[in-house]
Amino acid sequence: MINVTKTYLPPLSEYQTYLDQIWQITWLTNRGKFVLELEQKLCRYLQVPNLLFVNNGTIALQIAIKALNLKGEIITTPFSYVATTSSIVWENCKPVFVDIDPNSLCINPDLIEEAITNKTSAIMATHVYGIPCEVEKIEKIAQKYQLKIIYDAAHSFGVQYKGQSLLNYGDISTLSFHATKLFHTGEGGGIVTKDKDLFHKIMYMHNFGHNGPEEFFGVGINGKSSELHAAMGLCVLPKIDELITKRKELSEYYDSNLKSLDLRRPTIPTETIYNYAYYPVIFESEEYLLKAKNKLNENNIFPRRYFYPSLNTLNYVEKQTCLVSEEISKRVLCLPLFYDLEISLAENICNIIKK
Ligand SMILES: *Cc1c(COP(=O)(O)O)cnc(C)c1O
Repeated sequence: MINVTKTYLPPLSEYQTYLDQIWQITWLTNRGKFVLELEQKLCRYLQVPNLLFVNNGTIALQIAIKALNLKGEIITTPFSYVATTSSIVWENCKPVFVDIDPNSLCINPDLIEEAITNKTSAIMATHVYGIPCEVEKIEKIAQKYQLKIIYDAAHSFGVQYKGQSLLNYGDISTLSFHATKLFHTGEGGGIVTKDKDLFHKIMYMHNFGHNGPEEFFGVGINGKSSELHAAMGLCVLPKIDELITKRKELSEYYDSNLKSLDLRRPTIPTETIYNYAYYPVIFESEEYLLKAKNKLNENNIFPRRYFYPSLNTLNYVEKQTCLVSEEISKRVLCLPLFYDLEISLAENICNIIKK
């Protein structure tokens, strides 16, 4: 069975060397040495000043909303994974959807201002598929209206924009290290902010508010991860450049093989160093998409409809229309893309789609 992605697993012996040490020290969680080592190495690799390793990308979003003390309405994108919206609702805020740009598929900054009300507290946008949002325009609007910015950067591991990490834009960026993501720790996530005081607050918040065993700094939750997860990350991180290179080669293969078809691809802005996190194609119609998907399924190949449905149509949000997102989400399919996908299989996938 070929899925949209396949988790990279390090040689078992490499993971075993970490397990041996964990067994020896008998220390599994509460910011052990491997969690600290992973955070340091991630900061260096991603070129960010502070990164907190947490237990998943959704708790990262929820802590971000809490730490910024957001209330009322949060302007967000309808084209993302459901966690972007659900975390807003979970934190008792109201998601206000602003439609996407048809080329980048990220939130359309030119539509943000008209969605701002006196209840708006923040903009929470996704760098969807790792494609940078129009961060400068968003920043300007946020400054004008004194709004906070959270970027759901779950897809943006390693992406650079204008000579620096994409994670350095906005007040907070959050990452997911779920097993299906480019860099993974099995389950896991990250919170990045340049603001030292905010980072401090987040540090307390993710650990029940503990300040030592008997004192508490405010209310917290358990967002900690474990040594077992950190060890996985330490095994995967040294391989990440190689994994990205493989995906780049495969993406370029898909590009060349599929160029005769009327498939559209989202545009990546200039001055971006991309991470090839996904390979989305936009079909002419939903009918064509379903035909291709069914044929692929018959051949035991399972692409995914990332992202469908458009999040403004979820039954637990107030009804709002986002025509571009609704339209694109019906027609977009992510093709299998992972480090050891054989070119012959990619060719087979292309042939099935062409038929
Ligand atoms: C995967 C993902 C999340 C959630 O991350 P988890 O680690 O699975 O909780 C949030 N937002 C986006 C855009 C994602 O793709």
